[in-house]
Amino acid sequence: MSTHEIRVIGDPVLRTPAAEVTEVDGSLVRLCDDMFTTMYAAPGIGLAAPQVGVQKRFFVYDHGEGSGVIVNPQIVESDGEWVYEEGCLSVPGLSWEIVRPKTIHLVGIDLDGNNVSIEADALEARLFQHELDHLDGVLLVDHLDDEQRRDARRALSELAMARAGLLEGARAQGKTRASGGLQLP
Ligand code: ZN
Repeated sequence: MSTHEIRVIGDPVLRTPAAEVTEVDGSLVRLCDDMFTTMYAAPGIGLAAPQVGVQKRFFVYDHGEGSGVIVNPQIVESDGEWVYEEGCLSVPGLSWEIVRPKTIHLVGIDLDGNNVSIEADALEARLFQHELDHLDGVLLVDHLDDEQRRDARRALSELAMARAGLLEGARAQGKTRASGGLQLP
């Protein structure tokens, strides 16, 4: 098992609606194993396929009271309202209070191809709605109100600058390695 790089905001894969899974095969099962490893290492309680660059409709989760993989998830019913401070591994270090329905009825299939039907409440419902957003190319910043959006803009540009700095650093290291390679006979 290995970890995958978690894509962060600005990466177009996070803004592309993912395609239905047509077959649950061994490679999907292995990818889910890697996604669990990646999620636990982060650490996080949920990870959707687009966050590791895979444009397919499934996610893994473990909120401490249950874990699993939901393939081709759909919310068939939602009810109530709940404010919860929500973060995202793809928007690292930032979180906002976001209003969403409090309870949902989620259906989909699991890795054995069995139908899944979950009546989720509170944190579990929040997690499922968040992961399903990822499959539709939606990020938590899309749920902000005007005031949160103003604050977010500054925080996100700082994040982008910090990441650009990291990338420059990585490129410089790459160059060192490459020129080292060129010196070989
Ligand atoms: Zn997320």
